[in-house]
Amino acid sequence: MDRLDLIIRSRKVVTPEIIGPACVHIRNGIIVALSEWDEVLEPEVPLVDAGEAAVMSGLVDSHVHVNEPGRTRWEGFATATRAAAAGGVTTLVDMPLNSIPPTTTVSGFQEKLVAANGQCFIDTAFWGGVVPGNTSELIPLLDAGVRGFKCFLIHSGVDEFPHVGEENLREAMPELEKRGSVLLVHAELPGPIEKAAEELKDENPRAYETFLKSRPRESENKAVELMIRLCRTTVARVHIVHHSSSDVLPLLKAAREEGLLLTVETCPHYLTFAAEEIPDGATHFKCCPPVRERENREKLWEALKEGVIDMVVSDHSPCTADLKLMERGDFLEAWGGIAALQFTLPAIWTEAQKRGFDLKELSCWMSEAPARLAGLDKRKGKIAVGFDADITIFEPEKEFKVVPEIIEFKNKITPYEGMNLRGVVKATFVRGRKVYENGQFVGKAAGNLLTKL
Ligand SMILES: [Zn+2]
Repeated sequence: MDRLDLIIRSRKVVTPEIIGPACVHIRNGIIVALSEWDEVLEPEVPLVDAGEAAVMSGLVDSHVHVNEPGRTRWEGFATATRAAAAGGVTTLVDMPLNSIPPTTTVSGFQEKLVAANGQCFIDTAFWGGVVPGNTSELIPLLDAGVRGFKCFLIHSGVDEFPHVGEENLREAMPELEKRGSVLLVHAELPGPIEKAAEELKDENPRAYETFLKSRPRESENKAVELMIRLCRTTVARVHIVHHSSSDVLPLLKAAREEGLLLTVETCPHYLTFAAEEIPDGATHFKCCPPVRERENREKLWEALKEGVIDMVVSDHSPCTADLKLMERGDFLEAWGGIAALQFTLPAIWTEAQKRGFDLKELSCWMSEAPARLAGLDKRKGKIAVGFDADITIFEPEKEFKVVPEIIEFKNKITPYEGMNLRGVVKATFVRGRKVYENGQFVGKAAGNLLTKL
């Protein structure tokens, strides 16, 4: 038998079944065995003893806008994947829009792969996009290695990624169904938002309340209803991204009980912040759909507990400072998107532990479920024999303050700035190789582009 490369042990190894003392044995980047804590069979093998810190699966963040090529001033593969590694994320899946070109054609995808090549500190996969008129590109994009597709039901914020209507989806979804692929949907419909815009013409654009009213729940509710209907009739897999409105949680629950192939994500900002607490002019809190009221937030937590919401991913969507209009504080004109890739694990842990959840549940929401969504679940998303040794050493009792000096993503604007968060990422391993430890990066950018599995 070949020698092991590394053993990582701790009193708190987090697997889908237990949190307890164990050794994780690693060879060629794969977890080859789990053993008792004191069962270090090969004493000459390097041993990382994490002590009382948690040893958990690296996060799989299936919702990241890297924006390269084309909007590399907003973010890029080097900075995004460093921020991810510093946050305990070991795989990210890049969104098809905000880069130029968008990932809606095979040639666009190839440009993205060229841009990403050699820059990634962690493993990186890609979503394609469904836009009007690109149905013939969908299967070729899958063949080229995208993990599924994203679409918008409302203006996406960038003109080169137009939104789709029901007609377009009735054409595209059966195509995806042929391959068992998944459609990720930005679920807001334009009707209620256009109506609200009319009514809000004279309201103060610096007030968060004005922004909240400009993206009414009705818009999300109607979009989710539409997607449930399309999921039922086309039998294609549907995934609702960044879900915010609690109104439709009962509908989503019923759809799941009916056996529809429907999954749902929410994001740390919806689970952390509350509309009542967002100051006027604080456009770094702007995202679409918006952060809603406190009572809405608590219902999202309930839905996570019940399994109606499957996962928590960042929706890291940064931009340059000028586009956030921080001085004017105009919520209606500012770019909508929250940057937080590096802080999703401690942000969620800070809130989750207050509500009685443990790291097993966190791992399920932030590693296992997103890996399954992206079809990476044979290799990624949990500490188990045969899986990639993607591991985060996390100190759940420690606290830290979010200050610009520690932020690794390119534009250091985040609503988490100034907050004290619970849980410190001490080290991150990708396929058994240490990439980050105690605030420092280790080695070169050796992340894989996951186009072939
Ligand atoms: Zn997004």
